[in-house]
Formats: sequence, C-alpha cells, structure tokens
Amino acid sequence: MEHIDTIVIGAGLAGAAVAARLDGSVVLLEQGRQPGAEATAQNAGMVRLLVEDPVERRLALRAQELLEGLDDAWEQPPSTITGAVHGLIHEPDELDDAVASLRAAGVEVHPTTELPPALDGAPLRRAWSVPGARVADPHALLTGLLRERTVRCDVAVHGLRLSGGRIAGLSTSHGELSCDRVVLAAGAWSGALVASLGLRRPLHPIRRSLLQSAPHPLSSPTHPWCWLEDLGLYIRPEGGGWLVSGCDERIDPPAPGPGSTGAVDPTWRETVSERLLQLLPALSDLRWRGGWTGLRTFAPDRRPLLGPDPEVPGLSWAAGLGGFGVTTHLAVGEAVAAWMDGRDVPWLLQAEVDPGRDFPRRWVIRPQGTRRGMQLVPG
Ligand SMILES: Cc1cc2nc3c(=O)[nH]c(=O)nc-3n(C[C@H](O)[C@H](O)[C@H](O)COP(=O)(O)OP(=O)(O)OC[C@H]3O[C@@H](n4cnc5c(N)ncnc54)[C@H](O)[C@@H]3O)c2cc1C
Repeated sequence: MEHIDTIVIGAGLAGAAVAARLDGSVVLLEQGRQPGAEATAQNAGMVRLLVEDPVERRLALRAQELLEGLDDAWEQPPSTITGAVHGLIHEPDELDDAVASLRAAGVEVHPTTELPPALDGAPLRRAWSVPGARVADPHALLTGLLRERTVRCDVAVHGLRLSGGRIAGLSTSHGELSCDRVVLAAGAWSGALVASLGLRRPLHPIRRSLLQSAPHPLSSPTHPWCWLEDLGLYIRPEGGGWLVSGCDERIDPPAPGPGSTGAVDPTWRETVSERLLQLLPALSDLRWRGGWTGLRTFAPDRRPLLGPDPEVPGLSWAAGLGGFGVTTHLAVGEAVAAWMDGRDVPWLLQAEVDPGRDFPRRWVIRPQGTRRGMQLVPG
C-alpha cells in the first residue's frame, strides 16, 4: 500500500494554504476534476477586516499581512486595494468594537459622509470607510499556493482509517492509502467525512446567492465594495456591472461528490431587486444577467475548526471557514501547520478554534439575510 506522510483532503483555499506550509511528503486529494471548483470558486473575493467576531478578525488581520507579502513577492499580485465602505442603517453602534480593535492594530478606519456613487441616497445612519480594504483573486491565490505541491484530482476520499485510535490511512475511490497525518480541508463535505468516527464536529453547509448585473454606469474597478451590515446587502464592482448579495442563508448539505454550485431562485432575485430599490436607489435600475449560489460552511459558533483534533491523534482540521475563507486562508494555513508541528502562533489561541470545543446546541441563521425572520436551528 502506498504511504504518504501527510494527506490533505480537499484542494480549495484552506487545503492549499495548509499544504503550502507543511514539510515532508504532502499530497492533496481532490474529488473534483480540478482544484478549487467549489466554495473557492463561488465567492465574492472580498477581503474583510471590519468584522465583529474577534477570532475571525485576528485571522483576517494576520492574513492581510501575509497577503501584502504575496502582493510584493509574486509576479502578479493576487489582490487589489479597492477600499470598502460598511454602512449601518438601524444600529449605528454595531461596529464600534470592531473599529476600535482594527484601529488599535494600525488599520485605517474612519467614519465617512463622503459616500461612493453606489451609496448615493442610501438611508445610512453611519458609514465606516476602510481605505486599504482589498479584493482578492482566489484563483491566483490557489494556483500560487499549489505551485510546488502534488494534487491528485478525481480522487474522492470515502473514509478515514484508524489504528490504535490514531490516523493510519484513508480509503479512496482509487483504493487504500496509508499515512501518518490527515488534514481535513474538505469544505462543505468535512462533517460527513468524520461522521462514522463518532465525533461531534458540527459543520453546516449554508447556501448563499450572488447575482451579477449587466454593465452599469456607476460601476468602476476603483469603486470600493460596500456592505450594509445590519440589512444584509453587499455590492462589489465586477466586469463593468455589480456583484450583489442579499446575504441569504439556507442549510443545504451537499450530496457526496463534486458539484455544489447552484442557480439563483428567481423569487430571491426579485427580493434583492426590491431591497436595492429601498436601500440603494442609485442601483435600483440594475438589470440581472446571471448569478449563482454556493456553500459557506459554518460551525454553530461561526468560528472555524482549526488544528489537531483532541480526540484523534494524526487528524487536523482546516474547515468551517464560512464566509471568510478568502480573507483568512493564509492565516489558517500558518496556524494549522504550526500547531501540527507543535509550534505556537503568537496571534491566536488554539483553544478558540479547537475542533473539539463545546458548540452551542442551537444557533441562529438569517434566511433572508436580515434580522427579520431569523431562525433558531439545531447545532
Ligand atoms: C456565495 C459566497 C460568497 C463568499 N464571499 C466571500 C468573500 O467575499 N470573502 C471571503 O473571505 N470569503 C467568501 N466566501 C467564503 C469562501 O469562499 C470560503 O470560506 C472558502 O472558499 C472555503 O474554502 P475551503 O477550501 O474550505 O472549501 P472549498 O473551496 O469548498 O474546498 C474544499 C475542497 O474539498 C474537496 N472535497 C470535499 N470532499 C472531498 C472528498 N471526500 N475527497 C476529496 N476531496 C474532497 C472539494 O471538492 C473542494 O474542492 C464566500 C462563499 C460563498 C459561497
């Protein structure tokens, strides 16, 4: 039987970022025909620093430093500075803590009344500008991270094999493999892969829609991306038009095998159009030309599962990157690889993202992207 020191399951941004940091023989197994065809290809690419959760924020801040390094080191910078504006309509104080923390970390964030064209006429009570915010190119990041790594595509992992309670190998669509360590970076499929081991590692794939507009006069590559934080709406200029999300959330575990991208429900498209009319009058004339849905995978506390599993020696996690995997994957890679090798990282405590931590038995999702209609669901 073939032996590989470390096998990474999943060649999306999470698996690639960890693999890029590991020594020894490392192979990524990917069920799809090519790397990065699931959540890694479905996102809006926004690098978001101004977030409420302190763990997500620390990951984002560290990742931003690493991303800046890549922009200097790689021939083609994998991200672009566009700036971002975060608007608040009902709860003007909602981001105050996050703003203070970012400022303490040296990030420029300031209140603004000089709104970019797309926010003209929006009923905002407060807006924060983050001039250094970026948009990343997930494909360029993935390609760069995997440049010197071995990826075997079209290989589906069916199960993990233990011996004496620790990882001994994997069963795959191409037969058995023996290994010392496994990194579970299988995105929306991660929870199902360990179900047979009897571990409680709740991970919930949640579907979200992104709509693409036809070209629009206010769109330009230098327009900042904008997020109406307390009303579930974001926009990002793209291809002469806009990429728009109404921040919908629907629990939707994927079937085994590749292919999690879906079509946008026409009713939801109408809801987003109505929301634009009410909240972003400058974009009320958008015409839709396409869109898609994809899976964001969350633990019930909306924090990722990172690093060695406390109950299964040899198993490590890089999963549950929710809606922040483009922003944070470089930091995820650094932390997971360090912890696997028994080293520390100074900017994050392992306990906060421990895969074996206690999870809430119930948590809240926002089917409509807004507080109205929030649902309490089992964790
Ligand atoms: C609509 C949408 C918008 C988003 N917008 C943003 C954003 O603006 N900013 C941001 O930071 N993040 C955003 N995200 C989140 C981001 O895309 C994800 O957090 C990130 O891509 C997760 O990467 P991953 O590698 O964990 O998962 P994936 O990219 O899904 O990779 C997991 C891989 O594992 C493979 N796999 C699964 N099971 C197996 C198996 N059994 N055997 C072999 N291979 C397997 C899959 O085929 C897949 O390629 C968004 C996501 C969505 C859906």
